[in-house]
Amino acid sequence: FWLSCLEHFKKELNAQQFNTWIKPLQLETSPNNHTEAVLIAPNRFVMQWVKDNFLSRIETMAQAHFSNDIRFQLRLADQIEIRKKAIIQDDATPVIKISRPSKKKNPDYPNQLNPNFNFDNFVAGKANQLARAGAIQVAESPGIAYNPLFIYGGVGLGKTHLIQSVGNFVLENNQQAKVRYVHAEKYVSDVVNAYQHKSFDKFKLYYHSLDLLLVDDVQFFGGKNRTQEEFFYAFNALIEAHKQVIITCDSYPKEISGLEERLVSRFGWGLTVAVEPPELEMRVAILLKRASMEKIRLDENVAFFIAKHIRSNVRELEGALKRVLAYSRFVGHEISLDLSKEALKDLLAVQNRQISIENIQKTVADYYKIKVSEMYSKKRARIVARPRQMAMAIAKELTPLSLPDIGEAFGGRDHTTILHGYRKINELRASDPAINRDFNALLHILRG
Ligand code: ADP
Ligand code: MG
Repeated sequence: FWLSCLEHFKKELNAQQFNTWIKPLQLETSPNNHTEAVLIAPNRFVMQWVKDNFLSRIETMAQAHFSNDIRFQLRLADQIEIRKKAIIQDDATPVIKISRPSKKKNPDYPNQLNPNFNFDNFVAGKANQLARAGAIQVAESPGIAYNPLFIYGGVGLGKTHLIQSVGNFVLENNQQAKVRYVHAEKYVSDVVNAYQHKSFDKFKLYYHSLDLLLVDDVQFFGGKNRTQEEFFYAFNALIEAHKQVIITCDSYPKEISGLEERLVSRFGWGLTVAVEPPELEMRVAILLKRASMEKIRLDENVAFFIAKHIRSNVRELEGALKRVLAYSRFVGHEISLDLSKEALKDLLAVQNRQISIENIQKTVADYYKIKVSEMYSKKRARIVARPRQMAMAIAKELTPLSLPDIGEAFGGRDHTTILHGYRKINELRASDPAINRDFNALLHILRG
């Protein structure tokens, strides 16, 4: 029965989802004709996810298979449970504690962490749900939950914030932990340095003895072979010693150009999760959080106004808020809707100019190397139909135009066609990392 279950999910899910959620499950008691069965999950994160997303389907399949009502229980794997207990003690309800910069640092290991990045001031939402959950899990039991944790996504979406939160959290719980945050570019220059000074032994001694290594923006390793070789050794040494490695990147491991295959495959050993651009409500929440942190009074309608117009990423959102704040100080008035409109006038004008539907069509056509005229044509070959749908989805995302208006711009198509294209792309973005990457890259280009 379980084998057929696995087969089923293998077909239904993409490889990444299957490997993350279903493959690690073990059937402890086989259902037979009993009415109860137990599935063992490797960690709490997988357990919860399976419970919420797959359990009822597994039960339905079991019911069909045995013609009997069978209830499934999920349990955590024992040895992991024990190891985890040793580390976090309070095992029942691990609560995220406020991480504050620790005073007593381990002087031999400058961790390079920014103490302002913590889980408490990281706003949770659908866009970062998985990445945040994975990061919390890893922070609670470094070296055990997932190794490595690989977080990817566009700029300004909170990757650095998230991994530094893990570092600060780990240090908060254990001030002796050897934690190191390193931007990939800095790591490259460390390698160059070691090369020049023939000091690879020292370099190795340092990087191979860490408890937690955070490598940010690993796409910078692309094409740097010596760096990749060194990192390969460090990575292996750490993983073998059950030390935690966390990596961020602007793209999915397979899509990092100029990265050795052996690193690509290793990056996928643990958990690979994406961060997405935040939705409107989440952008509002981020603005309100930021305002309260800085003790600025910000009305919700003003936050909505800013969030509605600044859609690309969190960094730009924060930039817009700073601009509004600076303007309010400059003219000596409280922040209001009118004042915000005035303060952001230039910024918004630039955005609006750039993101016309013609611009979207041209940019998407160039990106996929097809003719702009294919945007209006009736051809249905996938090679042109998919980019066309991509342009429709982006037009829906980036412009305030209605579906019929967009349809008009795409050679007089019906609004249902536009809606279908929009939904199709969103569906594909969830299942096909390449499409998701194209989408994000195009947004990035269009927003300048
Ligand atoms: P990335 O590393 O993905 O380019 P950063 O982590 O540097 O992005 O985030 C950019 C800015 O946005 C930082 O100031 C960060 O604190 C803030 N930020 C990003 N995501 C969130 C979030 N979910 N909640 C609060 N602040 C966020
Ligand atoms: Mg970053």
